Amino acid sequence: MKFYDAHNHLQDERFGGRQAELLAASEKAGVARMVVNGACEGDWPEVLALARQSKIVLPSFGYHPWYLHERTPDWLQNLNKFLDEVPGAVGEIGLDRWKPDLPYEPQEEVFLAQLGVAAERNLPVSIHCLQAWGRLHELLRDHPRPARGLVLHSFGGPAEMIPAFAKLGAYFSFPGYFLHERKIRQRETFKQVPRDRLLIETDAPDQLLPEDRNRFPLASADGKALNHPANLAAVYSGLAEFLGEKVELLAARVEENFQRVFGGIAN
Ligand SMILES: [Zn+2]
Repeated sequence: MKFYDAHNHLQDERFGGRQAELLAASEKAGVARMVVNGACEGDWPEVLALARQSKIVLPSFGYHPWYLHERTPDWLQNLNKFLDEVPGAVGEIGLDRWKPDLPYEPQEEVFLAQLGVAAERNLPVSIHCLQAWGRLHELLRDHPRPARGLVLHSFGGPAEMIPAFAKLGAYFSFPGYFLHERKIRQRETFKQVPRDRLLIETDAPDQLLPEDRNRFPLASADGKALNHPANLAAVYSGLAEFLGEKVELLAARVEENFQRVFGGIAN
């Protein structure tokens, strides 16, 4: 079986420079491709370096709403520069009204500028959204979008909005974190996702799976538990169990979906 990680952050400094080891373990565990998302200008060079290092890395460059205060006056030019450098995707971008003390004011402008870049170049875009689903839908509806589709990563929005987002070309990505017992609403929501719009992700080093499913325990230098990207197979198994499907069938379907959005982007 081949597994496709629709969203992770392999460049994250919490991995302490062990990226080569993590890549080898992931490949051994069946990971065929992983979308590695940059979150700010500071980590785009690391994402680019990883793409040059490994063919399974599909680089993605974007400004995450949590890091907008770090952007330089040339950030948008800089984004285009990285996208010219290597075939890749746009993300992680987004809207966040959940994080305490995070200013919302600059978020829409930066989000729309990046969505515009993705639309113009027809590159897949990975979107983070917390407590801004209605507004996200309006912005996507009213602006040009990439024809190949967009990814709502760790989709935790209302099930009722799935058809409206699907109509705009959205794919819905399931993280291992939703396998925690208490995440029942989020899991149930995925039963409403159209079969041809489902993706799976680790979001490593974040969104750790429940302990009994964590096949690759990993910690940062200061002892904090991290999600290993090779846990992807365990996310597939967990979701297959929940949906009552054979994991082979689920994997085949997710492969098709992944190729439809991210296919043809090879470094
Ligand atoms: Zn992320």
